[in-house]
Amino acid sequence: MNIHEYQAKALLKGFGAPVAAGVPVFSAGEAEAAARSLPGPLWVVKSQIHAGGRGKGRFKEASAGEKGGVRLARSVDEVIEFARQMLGATLVTKQTGQAGKQVNRLYIEDGADIARELYCSLLVDRAVGRVAFVVSTEGGMDIETVAHDTPEKIVTVAIDPEAGVTAADVAAIVSALKLEGAAAKDAETLFPLLYWAFIDKDMSLLEVNPLIVLKDGHLRLLDAKVSFDGNALFRHPDVEALRDLTEEDDKEIEAHKHDLAYVALSGNIGCMVNGAGLAMATMDIIKLYGAEPANFLDVGGGASREKVTAAFKIITADPAVKGILINIFGGIMKCDVIAEGVIAAVREVGLQVPLVVRLEGTNVALGKKIIADSGLDVIAADDLDDAARKIVAAVKGA
Ligand code: GDP
Ligand code: MG
Repeated sequence: MNIHEYQAKALLKGFGAPVAAGVPVFSAGEAEAAARSLPGPLWVVKSQIHAGGRGKGRFKEASAGEKGGVRLARSVDEVIEFARQMLGATLVTKQTGQAGKQVNRLYIEDGADIARELYCSLLVDRAVGRVAFVVSTEGGMDIETVAHDTPEKIVTVAIDPEAGVTAADVAAIVSALKLEGAAAKDAETLFPLLYWAFIDKDMSLLEVNPLIVLKDGHLRLLDAKVSFDGNALFRHPDVEALRDLTEEDDKEIEAHKHDLAYVALSGNIGCMVNGAGLAMATMDIIKLYGAEPANFLDVGGGASREKVTAAFKIITADPAVKGILINIFGGIMKCDVIAEGVIAAVREVGLQVPLVVRLEGTNVALGKKIIADSGLDVIAADDLDDAARKIVAAVKGA
């Protein structure tokens, strides 16, 4: 789960991190009040969307002006002007895709005098099985570009979970970021507290790009992006309360309610599969035969008939879906339960597109019989290869 920059900053401020004063706003009127409550003479008007690269992004509407989604204002009037232009407009960045994202909230922040822009993130480094800092002197730019062009400028410091962030870890980060004086002193508290926040809130990513050295020599988080481990959200109702459903895919929200592992994709073949590995293999084989999956969907090992019905409805509600492939290996899951769920769902929502079903495993004969006896227009498949070929052919023929 992702949150907005201003929410991430408030959360990290609670752990003691240095951030500028700022106010989230939903209207130009609120933006004016926010700007007047801040000292000036520099204000930053920042689009709040769940995507990075806002500064270099562009709005679709000409009325939003030529500038990007992060703007420096030198007067309250300019803050109001930018707020009017940006609110309601659609921002396209490297991370939003061509469709872009509508800007519904802004963050009005007290502007900083920047001496240096650095990069700092915390993530779960699976290669070493530890939470690690990834830092670079090349802040403010796309870290993927830095990693590609100048990988030697990225330094990773993995943290021992028992020891936490040690003095040696801080020293390694300070050296990698070439911090001196007040900034080096700030580092002694900043990096341990970022690590503590990451662990305490079950984050999966904490990215500060840029982390800045101010003209007065101190460190400050100028940007903050935080993602949380969805499987740990039940432990953090305070974090769950920060969820902005307008930023999330409707189908993913519905799937979440039914405890289905679902990810919307851009293809046209809807997939319903049990088991993440089989779901990945199903998507691969659809691609192998020249088509693209519309989603990843794992109904889980012991799905009920209701869950199968809910999953089927989510798939068919997607207008991009031109064909559906159900691929079930009945281990814990019984094929007859799946068959009944599918039939119940088809009876309820109808079937406008070709449907290929491949069942294997526990109660497979019964499952196949239930589908055959239902009189529904289902294309039966014998194995994964056969199923993929049949659905791709059916969609291409249609
Ligand atoms: P992003 O483009 O979505 O990553 O948004 P950021 O919050 O990282 O802002 C983009 C860029 O705007 C930063 O790298 C800075 O160069 C600039 N910027 C943001 N806030 C300030 C500020 O307070 N003062 C100054 N001078 N520049 C800022
Ligand atoms: Mg940034």
